[in-house]
Amino acid sequence: MSDRLSRLGDVIDDYCPTCRLLLNHDVAALVGVAIAKVTCRTCFNTHDFRKGQVPAKRKSKKEEPKSLVDQVLATLPPPPVIPLASAAAPPPRKRRDLWAEVKRIQEQQQKKS
Ligand SMILES: [Zn+2]
Repeated sequence: MSDRLSRLGDVIDDYCPTCRLLLNHDVAALVGVAIAKVTCRTCFNTHDFRKGQVPAKRKSKKEEPKSLVDQVLATLPPPPVIPLASAAAPPPRKRRDLWAEVKRIQEQQQKKS
């Protein structure tokens, strides 16, 4: 069958760049005896004959995708260096007495009025 010369309208397998699959195509153009253009029978896209060659897959930018945790950790700044001396550590924060705050604000308002 491969000995027979292709003719216009023959059905031939080729890679469709639109469908991105190896599909049936019609021979649409010949240059001498060589197939020049084919038309996809699925999407009717006419393109150069690719001799049934499926293109190599594109390389992904990352060879090995990192885990999500590693990706997030890579974006974070390095942790701050905490000195070991306890004297340098700030004193513990006082707990805010909210009722004292309310009283202070009420007194300020009474002074104004
Ligand atoms: Zn197609």
